[in-house]
Amino acid sequence: MKKSFFSQLFSAFLLVIVTMSGITIFFSYRNFKTEHVNTLSNHLFQICKIVETVSKDYLFNSDYTNLDKFIKGLGYKIDERITIVDANGKVLADSDENPLLMENHGGRLEISTALKNGFGSSQRYSKTLNEEMLYIAIPIFDGDKTIGVVRSSIYSNSIESALKSFRRKIIITAIILISIFLIIASWFTINITNPLNQLTEAALKVSKGNFSQKIILKKSSVLKEFSDNFNSMTDQLSSSFRKITSQTDELNELVESMPQGIAVISSSGKVLRINKNIRTIFNIPDIFIHSDYWTLFKNNWINALIEKTLSTSLSQNSETEIDNATYLCSTSNVLNDRTILILLDVSEIKKTKLIKRDFSVNVSHELRTPLTAIKGFLETLEDGVKEEYSQYLDILKRHTERLINIVNDLLTLSELERDDSILCKENVKVETIVSNVTQIFQHRLKTKKIELFIQIEENLPPLFCDPFRMEQVLINLFDNALKYTEVGKITIQANRKNEEIVISIIDTGIGIADAHFDRIFERFYVVDKSRSRKHGGTGLGLSIVKHIVELHKGRIVIDSTVSKGTEVEVFIPLGSNSE
Ligand code: ADP
Repeated sequence: MKKSFFSQLFSAFLLVIVTMSGITIFFSYRNFKTEHVNTLSNHLFQICKIVETVSKDYLFNSDYTNLDKFIKGLGYKIDERITIVDANGKVLADSDENPLLMENHGGRLEISTALKNGFGSSQRYSKTLNEEMLYIAIPIFDGDKTIGVVRSSIYSNSIESALKSFRRKIIITAIILISIFLIIASWFTINITNPLNQLTEAALKVSKGNFSQKIILKKSSVLKEFSDNFNSMTDQLSSSFRKITSQTDELNELVESMPQGIAVISSSGKVLRINKNIRTIFNIPDIFIHSDYWTLFKNNWINALIEKTLSTSLSQNSETEIDNATYLCSTSNVLNDRTILILLDVSEIKKTKLIKRDFSVNVSHELRTPLTAIKGFLETLEDGVKEEYSQYLDILKRHTERLINIVNDLLTLSELERDDSILCKENVKVETIVSNVTQIFQHRLKTKKIELFIQIEENLPPLFCDPFRMEQVLINLFDNALKYTEVGKITIQANRKNEEIVISIIDTGIGIADAHFDRIFERFYVVDKSRSRKHGGTGLGLSIVKHIVELHKGRIVIDSTVSKGTEVEVFIPLGSNSE
């Protein structure tokens, strides 16, 4: 079980207090001991000094008996042991023992050091007294000559008893101080841990989604500011949560009511969300458990699209049939590696498109026969009509021709738009196509005095295309170049660029303003109606071009500057050679 805040904090305080007290006691005791020994040594040194002065006379007179008496009397009065030895270490007087019975003291550490260095001290066991003693010794001089050593000493147990009393005092003081510190520490710990416990509990509840948590602390609490901030944070969280919930509800409703079928799939292939429409399309029960997408969407085509997006992260678009309805399916990768599937029912649009196309084909077919007949009769009439009416006949002929052109172009477009429209592809030399097309326009080029340049790259690979359709593309583009160029030249270029063959038709004509670029491929879209009509234009030429190029999996690019000219580039992929 986790330790509570209180026990953790209090243990820390306890550890610090006990450690600090221990260190303080240890050093105080050591200092006191050193100080005490120093003071005693000093005291013994002073005694030695006095005794040295007084004992000199006895030594000069070799009056050792009286010296011993004097030392015994002094030792008794000051309650300390005093010993006097001669320069050889022979004991001459001693306050506690009979000097005659005492062994030679020349080997005692304090005495030998005093004889050598002028001062000796040691704390050791006394063989004479069988006690631990502190000794201080200094030499007694007669001029330069050392005639003896005076030594004073004190029982170590007197030092010990002083230290013992100090130890007792310091331990009592320490216990009192530690107790006071511990009381303060526990008060302080309680003051901190209570609010902390409250905060922990509240934070735990917030983490479980309960944002209504509030912490009320006393003004004096050290965590008051923190708790106020916590309260305002939970307020903000609660309002953000409400906002997010309402936005999520809105989003859910929106997704649910969308006319498209929508599904969100995780990177592991689990279906995370589906809307009502997709449930209806695939007959999925209202409550569905997060299942693998292939078990819910029983359509191999759609599952293949999802699989592709999941593995490549690329968007996919395709049409498929489900229960006699046509759906436009698109899959794309969204945030967090999720794949979104959208199904749009395009059955009605397809049906309308089909009706439109059939209508256009039918009308065109119905019109073509009478129009051809009218054109034939107009040509027959040409010879017999009076001079003054011939201009009306010309107008009639021009309009009829335009109508025939429109009908033909509409039929071509309808044919190209058919799903099953087939291209008869073969390898064709670009030179052949270009030469076939330019021949048609030789007469018009001459009449308009427009120069023609053909620049075809050497060793250009053959174009794998439907030659009839590709000629149609170049005829329409060349026809436009010639229609909208009054002076200058037309250049046809053919080059290889990477994996594509590019055929460009460049003129020095009136050009097209940028604003029309987007719409130029729309049916019946013309920049200048009267000019187009004057030249017999139908507004369908570029639509046909675009359809044919796209059927060849190519693309078309227009670049033009008003009054300078137009360049149309047709890109056909080389890859189609291998089809
Ligand atoms: P149209 O039969 O009227 O030429 P298109 O679909 O071929 O119809 O062309 C659409 C319009 O684009 C034309 O009406 C014309 O205004 C413009 N256009 C096409 N090619 C050129 C060109 N080479 N120079 C200038 N304008 C052009």
